[in-house]
Amino acid sequence: MKIGFIGLGNMGAPMAANLIAAGHEVTGFDVAGVTVPGAAQAGSAAEAATGAEVVITMLPNGAILRDVAAEILPAMAPGAVLLDCSTVDVESARAVAERAAAAGLGALDAPVSGGIGGAAAGTLTFMVGGSEEAFATAKPLFDIMGQKAVHCGPSGNGQAAKICNNMILGVTMIATCEAFALADKLGLSREAMFDVVSTSSGYSWSMNAYCPAPGVGPQSPADNGYKPGFAAELMLKDLGLSQQAAEAADADTPMGARALELYRAFVEDEDGRGRDFSAMLPRFEARGRD
Ligand code: NAD
Repeated sequence: MKIGFIGLGNMGAPMAANLIAAGHEVTGFDVAGVTVPGAAQAGSAAEAATGAEVVITMLPNGAILRDVAAEILPAMAPGAVLLDCSTVDVESARAVAERAAAAGLGALDAPVSGGIGGAAAGTLTFMVGGSEEAFATAKPLFDIMGQKAVHCGPSGNGQAAKICNNMILGVTMIATCEAFALADKLGLSREAMFDVVSTSSGYSWSMNAYCPAPGVGPQSPADNGYKPGFAAELMLKDLGLSQQAAEAADADTPMGARALELYRAFVEDEDGRGRDFSAMLPRFEARGRD
């Protein structure tokens, strides 16, 4: 397939590399001038999109996605598909899809989970919004870049699934960390805490698969000095998007709102920036009730 790839950062570059390794013809563009071995380099986003059957974007946020879409949609071939894999707000995803449809183009929002490791290994999970037809076009590419692609419904639903999942993740990670900190103060060993909770009703992915306490449970960023992993600032971004969506949809999300406040303080006022999001545990450990 002839593919345009716009945004070759931490995630985009390894995703593009996997498509090239699978034999696809990739033309890449990134404002930072980054290139990927084996990809043709375009001088602009529009040039990368010209003549492509699928144009993939992997960009920082919704405002940049809207700008790039405004530039590339007029350049795209009739019937081509814009496949946005960035994590952006639901409204931007839906606005871009509407503009694409008006131009006779397909559009999918397909944010990912799995991080940089998953991008490199080709084991991402894609949460996809858009038409069946566009999904079918992109499916072979999902199969190369990822291990799973879930079609969640019409445009915007991929982003909706992503931010709802990550709102649960942020809240459960905080709950797991504050419970560990309490258990420590009550004299419970971390091993006992893990053994009980991981097999009781408090279990979750945060406890069982990504335990925030070092030396306990499976290997996780806690065992590596809280080097990300999934950085606290990325969790902050996703919690911000979920609150933005909750506001727009008039949904009551008090735990998500509190998780956003805590991660904002952790990243902006404390030492959370550049640390894994599970480093909330040493944060709680260091604090008392006030
Ligand atoms: P990144 O900052 O490393 O990459 C973004 C790239 O986009 C940069 O190289 C930047 O130069 C480029 N860019 C910015 N504006 C551009 C423009 N107008 N035209 C062309 N290129 C432009 O970020 P990343 O970690 O690769 O994340 C990309 C997206 O994936 C984000 O939306 C992020 O939330 C999401 N995501 C990241 C992870 C992760 O672990 N890093 C996990 C899941 C989802």
